Amino acid sequence: MRLSQLLFPTLRDDPKEAQVVSHRLMLRAGMIRQNVAGIYTWLPMGLRVLRKIEGIVREEMAAIGCGELLMPTLQPAELWQESGRYDSYGKEMLRIKDRHERDLLYGPTNEEMITALVRDCKPSYRDMPKLAYHIQWKFRDEIRPRFGVMRGREFLMKDAYSFAADKAGAEAAYESFFMAYLKIFSRLGVTAVPVRAATGPIGGDLSHEFHILAETGESQVYVDKAYFAENVNELMFTKAKGYYAAADELHDPSQCPIPPEQLATKRGIEVGHIFYFGTKYSAAMGATVTVANAQSVPLEMGAYGIGVSRLVGALIEAHHDAGGIRWPVSVAPYRLAIVAAKPDDEDSVSKAEQIYRNLSQLDGDVLFDDRPERMGTKLADLELLGIPHVFVVGPKGLENGMVDWKERASGKTTAVPLAGLEHLYAHF
Ligand code: ATP
Ligand code: MG
Repeated sequence: MRLSQLLFPTLRDDPKEAQVVSHRLMLRAGMIRQNVAGIYTWLPMGLRVLRKIEGIVREEMAAIGCGELLMPTLQPAELWQESGRYDSYGKEMLRIKDRHERDLLYGPTNEEMITALVRDCKPSYRDMPKLAYHIQWKFRDEIRPRFGVMRGREFLMKDAYSFAADKAGAEAAYESFFMAYLKIFSRLGVTAVPVRAATGPIGGDLSHEFHILAETGESQVYVDKAYFAENVNELMFTKAKGYYAAADELHDPSQCPIPPEQLATKRGIEVGHIFYFGTKYSAAMGATVTVANAQSVPLEMGAYGIGVSRLVGALIEAHHDAGGIRWPVSVAPYRLAIVAAKPDDEDSVSKAEQIYRNLSQLDGDVLFDDRPERMGTKLADLELLGIPHVFVVGPKGLENGMVDWKERASGKTTAVPLAGLEHLYAHF
């Protein structure tokens, strides 16, 4: 992509309305623009990050056999009257009337809609469990939208649901989502701690929030330090959920099994929440399955959310420095940018262009900074935006067949031969 053609409105100064670093950097790096409180336009650079996060989530959902569908943003009030939540949900729900005076709402979540869907599909106990997810915009009229996309009113969520014939099936589904979440966050380049969460009337230990640790987190979490020494990719479910990790509401210092010196007390950003809630919705809405002896039983359900748009902010909270964002390569808007050091030196400009054309044939993850700006300005913008790798093509290096390779993570610059660029890019 040619940067000169993109909507990429960078800001030199910190916007006054932004209280946290991720919000400041997203505005300064031209990723988002606010329309009204808590509602944002995603500009090209922001949307690419959002899409890359979605891509990783989709792959890991497929890996556990969870199929994607897409439910609408608008829902009929009747569904929520069936479950009993229409009145209890309160002011966070945006209620709408259509031209026939029919009550609709902009979905804050989808338990009711999917329960009605599965009920109508009349699943057989022989093909249980049923797993499904979608990635869809939600609306919650948060009383205090803040921290940019981290607490928005309109936000993108991946919400998955599992339906099983019995509790053991529901527990097995819970386990596979729990493990998929560890993989997703690891691929996103962060540690997200599974923190025990309140289960409500069902009890048990099958509700976890996943928290990214960062000073600006809204929750206080207490975590056994030993957890941080684990290799998440090799961790087993029983062991992972056995570590002590609790948020404020569930942490009682007098009952804590971990000695104080082994307990990390940190701020956390909730980026995911998984929950087993038994037959709460299925019983109220008549979503049943016929089991072996021709008896009908309500389905055992679980719900599994990830805050996809919140994650964009949370990843920045975890990865930034004085120069700007430091994206993990897996979610950077582009893996590589190419810059001609001297915009008025025809040779280096045409060489840069040629490198750009070659590499963008391999995949579309290359940005060509062809803006008519000084090199210093371009490099500062690319650093702010957090592009992991930059090739600087200038007359001096070209004399010896070399370009400069700048790495965002280490800040290092290395001269590399023109002939090796394809190979290098393939390894980014
Ligand atoms: P919170 O306690 O932060 O309000 P929640 O418990 O209301 O979150 P869930 O209903 O479990 O959230 O939704 C699943 C996920 O959606 C959350 O883990 C979070 O990552 C994300 N999320 C929830 N509310 C918002 C919001 N207002 N803006 C952005 N993301 C959100
Ligand atoms: Mg909430």
